[in-house]
Amino acid sequence: MERKEKAPRERENKNRKTQTEGKRKTGQVRSGAKRVSSGQAALCPVYKKCGGCHLLELPYPVQLQQKQRQVEKLLKPYCRTEKILGMEDPFHYRNKVHAVFGHRKDGTIISGTYQEKTHFIVPVEECFIEDPKADAIIRDIRGLLKSFRIKTYNEDTGYGLFRHALVRTGYHSGQVMVVLVLGSPILPSKNHFVKALRELHPEITTIILNVNDQKTSMILGEREIVLYGKGYIEDTLCGLTFRISSKSFYQVNPVQTERLYGKAIELAGLTGRERVIDAYCGIGTIGLIASRSAGEVIGVELNPDAVRDAVFNARRNEIKNARIFRGDAGEFMTQMAAQGERADVVFMDPPRSGSDEAFLSSVVMLGPAKIVYVSCNPETLARDLGYLTKHGYAARTAVPVDMFAQTKSVECVVCLHRKEREK
Ligand code: SAH
Repeated sequence: MERKEKAPRERENKNRKTQTEGKRKTGQVRSGAKRVSSGQAALCPVYKKCGGCHLLELPYPVQLQQKQRQVEKLLKPYCRTEKILGMEDPFHYRNKVHAVFGHRKDGTIISGTYQEKTHFIVPVEECFIEDPKADAIIRDIRGLLKSFRIKTYNEDTGYGLFRHALVRTGYHSGQVMVVLVLGSPILPSKNHFVKALRELHPEITTIILNVNDQKTSMILGEREIVLYGKGYIEDTLCGLTFRISSKSFYQVNPVQTERLYGKAIELAGLTGRERVIDAYCGIGTIGLIASRSAGEVIGVELNPDAVRDAVFNARRNEIKNARIFRGDAGEFMTQMAAQGERADVVFMDPPRSGSDEAFLSSVVMLGPAKIVYVSCNPETLARDLGYLTKHGYAARTAVPVDMFAQTKSVECVVCLHRKEREK
């Protein structure tokens, strides 16, 4: 029995694997004798067990309607909601694919996802929402484990070696990162294993060995050894190039991310003079893209790997008006407010749990003319809007963006204005 919970960000995005038996043709999916129009769940053999694509059985326009209504209902007390920005092709969009490895009683190696709300592994071959290239790499890793006689890890006994594989793809760059998560730093026949994997998939640009020797619900451990390539991939977004490390957050839907960030920056209405804060900045995406139309950008982020990426990304794109700080966004903002600092625009893009009162109260104290709130959870967004609208801000527009087609999740961007400025 293999058990494990999702790492927080995996859980947050609620995008898990499903399995399909046949290849999807244009507008249609196919499985054995059955043929149904796209947006139906009949073809995914693990649809019920996986629990990633809750909406797979609904036609895509109905999914969008449902998400639109959900956001409208939650945000009704605060602002009007514009029409949701849906995807043109709502399949195979995920640029990050995770697979947990285990074995059956007879020793057969399996890889897939955890059954919803349990710790059982649901075997997955391919998935409607994942990058098919990543799924192919994961299938081949399974084959290599067999030929190299590498045992998969058993979480109950702590016996075995191979725990997870994580594949990240650069949508524009085509670069591919493979992270092999092992219970110990020793991968037998390491060089041969890497060579064999690269021969099967010459598109792989970096391979990382991540050591996770803890009984933990996190997928990745602290320690990493780069086995091949640079140890990160790069991709372009809104005209800038970003370095992405294995442990840094990066949006999973590259096409919709450009639309989301484009909208966020449009709503900020920058003129080139503003002092902008990018809170929860990750690898610096929103802030660095905004820096082209702002006076100065200050980014703050907790994860040290993401901070390193963000600093690198500023330099990589020759951006001179951005500074990145490591720290808790709430503490950082409280300190800024206490020091009498000011800001014109605050972009905030917190995790699924939303922001906290320390952060929100310090934003109110800093008093930016605009707050652009990017959220992957409309419920915590509504809660935080409740706070901000009681403390001098008015929300005008909410724009839902479908970043997670086939799943229940929906992303939103909301622009708030300081009330005095409106007079
Ligand atoms: N804006 C970025 C990242 C958004 S995800 C992007 O769009 O790519 C949220 C980010 O908040 C993650 O990078 C996470 O590491 C960071 N984070 C979580 N809690 C935080 C906190 N208390 N203070 C600062 N950053 C935090």
